[in-house]
Amino acid sequence: MASTVGAVTDANAPDTAALYPATRLESARKAAADAGLDALLIAPGADLRYLTGYQALPLERLTCLVVPAAGDPFLVVPELEKAAALASPAGRLGIDISGFGETDDAYAMIARRLPANLRLFAVDNHMWAEKLLAFQAALPGAQAGLAGDVLSVLRMRKTPAEIEALRRAGAAIDRVHRRMGEWLKPGRTEREVAKDIADAILAAGHVTVDFVIVGSGPNGASPHHEVSDRVIRAGDPVVVDIGGTTADGYCSDSTRTYAVGEPPAAFRELYEVLLLAQTAQTGAVRPGITAQELDAVGRDIITSAGYGEHFIHRTGHGIGLETHEEPYIVAGSARALEPGMAFSVEPGIYLPGMFGARIEDIAVCTGDGGERLNLTGRDLVVLPA
Ligand code: ZN
Ligand code: ZN
Repeated sequence: MASTVGAVTDANAPDTAALYPATRLESARKAAADAGLDALLIAPGADLRYLTGYQALPLERLTCLVVPAAGDPFLVVPELEKAAALASPAGRLGIDISGFGETDDAYAMIARRLPANLRLFAVDNHMWAEKLLAFQAALPGAQAGLAGDVLSVLRMRKTPAEIEALRRAGAAIDRVHRRMGEWLKPGRTEREVAKDIADAILAAGHVTVDFVIVGSGPNGASPHHEVSDRVIRAGDPVVVDIGGTTADGYCSDSTRTYAVGEPPAAFRELYEVLLLAQTAQTGAVRPGITAQELDAVGRDIITSAGYGEHFIHRTGHGIGLETHEEPYIVAGSARALEPGMAFSVEPGIYLPGMFGARIEDIAVCTGDGGERLNLTGRDLVVLPA
């Protein structure tokens, strides 16, 4: 299994030039200028990778992409990281990459290269607090804001190359779900099953395991239960929500709920309602539908069947270089979906003390509808007990 998967991955080796086009820096500069920001300061993380293709290590030493609203972007890295930065996709962007030594003040170095009248700078939303405080000290006349407001708008509209990367990630996690019968058996603990799943996530074409949720029996009623030492019993429904990140940086996330042997009749009833809701929601994806409307498509079905109070979370979240990003599919969001947006559709019903169920696919809004990137069956899979 692993060897064929490896071959598939090689045949689809990520094309970083297509995935991380050089035009993004100019798009970010323009978005910053339009928002009245004088500069974006981007530390290691998904924003940096999105803008440059550089997957930098988050260290105590500063690595920072600087995108001035007026002027050329540049990257400041510790001298010992410079070779890695140049070898990364950032090295072919034609931007200045400057190293600093162990006794240099990288914050002052950046402040000197920014306009003296800098008023408003924005840092990426996940920059470490100690780095933000150091920037505030180095730029005493300026106010700090968040770059996420402008960058999330760019990131949520995926290019065809990004959709293709998400499609590869979706196919990889589907391969893991298809093997669930090998591991999910009565007498095994959730933790034992999760270990096998984690190994399979890597073997299927991911470079990291981001999460493994195995919620058996009553544990399935807690949406973000991870794993425990509970022993799976015959008749248990089991929620399995798993995801990882592929070599090109894109994430997978898919949930299927299994039954190990014949589950209680009450569970089958609940599952049929959930299946109806999730199927209706994935079928309703199209340009122009708002996030709150898409949420309501499933919530109305679940509520009509009497389970409304047990669907205790939003319908979904955007996905790309991070598992959770914009757009969020949630009540109260009037954001209209656009072609290229990718997000999860994952309604769930949770009966405390009994069991729970969730069905999750990643969906992409296309020009005239939606495409599911997870294609394993959605009917209840009853595994041998
Ligand atoms: Zn999800
Ligand atoms: Zn999930």
